[in-house]
Amino acid sequence: MNNIYKLSAREIRDKFLSGELTAVEIITAFFERIDAVEDKVKSFVSLRRERVLEDAKKLDEKKRNGEKLGYLAGIPVAIKDNMLMDGEKSTSCSKILENYVGIYDSTVVKKLKEADALIVGTTNMDEFAMGSTTKTSIYKMTANPWDLERVPGGSSGGGAASVSAQEVPLALGSDTGGSIRQPAAFCGIVGLKPTYGRVSRYGLMAFASSLDQIGPFAKNVEDIALSMNVLAGEDDFDATVSKREVEDYTKALSQDIKGLRIGLPKEYFIDGLNEDIKLMVNKTVENLKDLGAEIVEVSLPHTKYAVPTYYVLAPAEASSNLARFDGIRYGYRAKNYSNLEELYVKTRSEGFGAEVKRRIMIGTYVLSAGFYDAYFKKAQKVRAKIKQDFEKIFNEVDVILSPVSPSTAFKLSDTKTPLELYLEDIFTIPANLAGIPAISMPVGLVDKLPVGIQFLGKAFDEATIIRVAAALEKKIGKLELPELS
Ligand code: GLN
Repeated sequence: MNNIYKLSAREIRDKFLSGELTAVEIITAFFERIDAVEDKVKSFVSLRRERVLEDAKKLDEKKRNGEKLGYLAGIPVAIKDNMLMDGEKSTSCSKILENYVGIYDSTVVKKLKEADALIVGTTNMDEFAMGSTTKTSIYKMTANPWDLERVPGGSSGGGAASVSAQEVPLALGSDTGGSIRQPAAFCGIVGLKPTYGRVSRYGLMAFASSLDQIGPFAKNVEDIALSMNVLAGEDDFDATVSKREVEDYTKALSQDIKGLRIGLPKEYFIDGLNEDIKLMVNKTVENLKDLGAEIVEVSLPHTKYAVPTYYVLAPAEASSNLARFDGIRYGYRAKNYSNLEELYVKTRSEGFGAEVKRRIMIGTYVLSAGFYDAYFKKAQKVRAKIKQDFEKIFNEVDVILSPVSPSTAFKLSDTKTPLELYLEDIFTIPANLAGIPAISMPVGLVDKLPVGIQFLGKAFDEATIIRVAAALEKKIGKLELPELS
């Protein structure tokens, strides 16, 4: 069977459990696929080739012995390079952590291992998850599998590309302001940013702690539900994780959406929104109506402040989180220095890239004594308003529909200014500021490039957005992913 790489995560698990495929056969098939396409796509920064083969052998043995098997048994998974795994390199694609090796498993990795998933390697990303292109990685530029001259999106671009290129059926990304949903949209796959506090961040390198969430990328909605059943849930190592019981998200997959109220925020149809994407959103509205949902125009009046608010708060938190990289405790240390101050300055000057430095500077500025009230404090107040907008609307509707990005994947050679890139985050940032869940899914192609839309839900109501996405996917079908050969 040489089409194993085309299977979904659920299909792989079922074939493993039924004995149709061994874990070694599965992992071997995926490495054949990786070897065939990785040169073009460049999704991975490290591969656990021999180690994961050992894991697969052990899993086959476990099965032969009749031991109980985990929920994701035999499924190859890629993790983002900012998630720790004991004994494996984890660098956030930054020079400052170039040779850093994890000394414990992040909670998500621990859960994947306990579920008998097979961890294939770590994927490329923008340095410290700051960006929307994956171009600020120190290692390489990942290509979009749909058009190798285009970006996969970011910051979790490697993870999205790895699933889109079918090098793995499942990958984990992190989303602070859109880094799962925008690359999922650019690469024609499904991505979920869970509610803040649904999935543990323990062992995730912090960018902006009040916004960061880990979530899955998959080829279809079912696999998102499957993986969330494992990833979600309480964790003694992360006090922000909710103790709320985890639902079985796969139950949402087969429910219809008759009578469900779906809000369409008028503020999301901004001038910069590409006409074709607007058409795709309108087509989605028609499809949802056909499925029996009721579409309601809603207003989220503070939407226009989301980008400036985020670009005050996220850098502020980042500047504080990244203070730990000082050349003493972790990773890179500058070679020549004559005193402690010089050691810090040189290490950080040489170890961080331009975008990371820009954010640290903005962050320390907005937190400084003279500007704290004018920027940081004000941004916190606006964040509360944005959150209230959603709370109010969710009294009227069950789900909100919106575009993911104002455009489709742009050229790798495009040199956008930082500000141009920041403005592109307009549709994804509000969910992070409000802490609510959002799922991005493909709804078609425009000029041979995928277009994604997203559904935003009430806090801890992942089930309903999964339900809507699954119903829509059933109606419109999935995209045929690129063959690349
Ligand atoms: N593009 C956004 C940024 O640059 C989002 C990044 C993210 O979600 N990690 O901050």
